[in-house]
Amino acid sequence: MFNQKNIAFAPEEQVYYPDISFSARANVRDARIYDWAGMDYEGYWAEEAKKLHWYKTWDKVLEWQHPFAQWFVGGKINACVNCVDRHLDSWRRNKAAIIFEGEPGDQVVLTYQDLHREVSKFANVLKDLGVGKGDVVTIYMPMIPEAVIAMLACARIGAPHSLVFGGFSAEALRDRIKDAAAKVVVTSDACWRRGKAIPLKQNVDTALTQCASVEKVVVVQRTGSEVYMEPSRDLWYHELMKKASAVCEPAMMDAEDILFILYTSGTTGKPKGIVHTTGGYLTGVTSTHRNIFDLKEDDVYWCTADIGWITGHSYLVYGPLANGATVFMFEGAPDYPERDRFWELIEKYRITLFYTAPTAIRLFMKWGESYPAGRDLSSLRLLGSVGEPINPEAWLWYHKHIGREKCPIVDTWWQTETGSVMVAPLPGLVPTKPGSATMSLPGVFVDVVDELGQPVKAGESGYLVIKKPWPSMLRTVYKDPQRYVDTYWSRFEGMYFTGDGARRDKDGYIWVLGRVDDVINVSGHRIGTAEVESALVEHPAVAEAAVIGRSHELKGQAVSAFVTLREGIAWAPELEKDLKNHVAKKIGGLARPEEIICTWELPKTRSGKIMRRLLKDIAEGRVLGDTSTLADPAVINQLMQQRLTPK
Ligand code: ATP
Ligand code: MG
Repeated sequence: MFNQKNIAFAPEEQVYYPDISFSARANVRDARIYDWAGMDYEGYWAEEAKKLHWYKTWDKVLEWQHPFAQWFVGGKINACVNCVDRHLDSWRRNKAAIIFEGEPGDQVVLTYQDLHREVSKFANVLKDLGVGKGDVVTIYMPMIPEAVIAMLACARIGAPHSLVFGGFSAEALRDRIKDAAAKVVVTSDACWRRGKAIPLKQNVDTALTQCASVEKVVVVQRTGSEVYMEPSRDLWYHELMKKASAVCEPAMMDAEDILFILYTSGTTGKPKGIVHTTGGYLTGVTSTHRNIFDLKEDDVYWCTADIGWITGHSYLVYGPLANGATVFMFEGAPDYPERDRFWELIEKYRITLFYTAPTAIRLFMKWGESYPAGRDLSSLRLLGSVGEPINPEAWLWYHKHIGREKCPIVDTWWQTETGSVMVAPLPGLVPTKPGSATMSLPGVFVDVVDELGQPVKAGESGYLVIKKPWPSMLRTVYKDPQRYVDTYWSRFEGMYFTGDGARRDKDGYIWVLGRVDDVINVSGHRIGTAEVESALVEHPAVAEAAVIGRSHELKGQAVSAFVTLREGIAWAPELEKDLKNHVAKKIGGLARPEEIICTWELPKTRSGKIMRRLLKDIAEGRVLGDTSTLADPAVINQLMQQRLTPK
């Protein structure tokens, strides 16, 4: 049965309907799923959970002791078995699980059978090193198959993993190892980045001078760079694997045993150690991956996120592998050796599903459409976006130049804390609007509320909250349950507070406006940073924009904008005036930026999100807040200089 979500859109609105041939074959074709799941969300999630392999089914679907949830209570499960072993008793065992291309162009293909062998061996290696159920393993690795093998090996023996993005410094790594009290660290000698070997092991050595919990370090040889090996502590992966047995009985885990700890990106402050457990998390990611990406047996799926972020965990590893997908994994950068590397890869591997972030899309826009135009992207059938609000202009560019106007776009709103996507269109059912993540998924209760927790009226904005527990929700902040309660469950009675602001339009569509702390209050009017930024990005001269509110004597706050320009455009006073007028025309005089500062790059987290709080610190002349997750400190230094130089 096929029917579309039945909404009467205004004629002037830009709405993109699912293509009928896409809808007719979509994994989810019946819009009544929203009603069924809405009426009985526990029942809905229990049905989704049944699609996994359980040693023992649960006694109770949900145990909710506000704000602490347990899902599938009494159920016994193993995440690795679901991602690997259960695909072996069909033809799928010979299917490619991971197709890897390294930055230098080297390739590795691992079938599910191969993956099973490698994971089992590494699980035995970890066991031999004394890692048991509940012992934390920190993984500090580049985007190579061994990273996935290490994650699944941990899951196989019940050791929670804690991934630290390979781009983090020794100090950031040290803090995360210490907080998690890791017993073993898995790393590599180095990784490839734009033709250079960037050391990783060296950072581990520095970090470990202050981490007493770590007993062993396993080192994967990636670049062949010379590294120091501490004789009593450090071991080579390839040597250990040579001797390891390929038979490893998986541990029977409780549904609520910890699967992993992951620290948030640090966009708004000091990162939080988010705890995810096994049964509910796996249910959430597997179900949403199948439904949102419309995964089919013969798809080649590429998620560009690093495994060090939640998107890498949920939609590069656990979701797709539990669904038996073929996952493409890429080590390198989008502009090396050329700016069409991504498009070359899509052409070469005939990628069908492509999932990336707005920050990348804006970069591609900045470089211009000639790069994708030179490649055959006809294999693509669906595009995804995650990480930040996608500006309508970027959405349209993605739709036209990458999707060639035939691929649905799924804009997926979610967080490290939510574990899986919460707001996104089901691509066969939900018409999309550029810039809106559309609506809550079935069985998820996201709402936009006012200060008092009342749902806002159509057309108004407020706070994005989640009103009922969901299976893949974080269970706590590692070793800090009070911070869990304070951060997420204290602002609104009985609701999970996301920290994001949003607008609900007249059709009920959700438009994420950015962090509530970033919302600007000009003379008593609330202006969303995302709206002003989208207006700026719409201007043909602008590649990216970050907007903040800085204190202002008369208005309370004034809008301050920072922009980067598209290739070949020069900064001039007329352009600044033009941009200010453009914003005023698009949104209104109140949103007109007081000043616009042109820069070569915006300060971003290492996951690519704009760090507005640092721009605010600069604009208001404060000491900078936590900068440990900043990708490139040079950007901030330059901006500080610019502020000090009178115009
Ligand atoms: P921290 O919590 O440490 O400040 P962070 O919030 O950036 O870091 P993540 O969990 O990686 O860490 O990011 C989740 C946030 O990213 C969301 O709260 C939201 O602000 C933003 N986000 C993610 N996807 C979308 C999307 N599709 N549309 C709008 N915003 C998004
Ligand atoms: Mg956050």
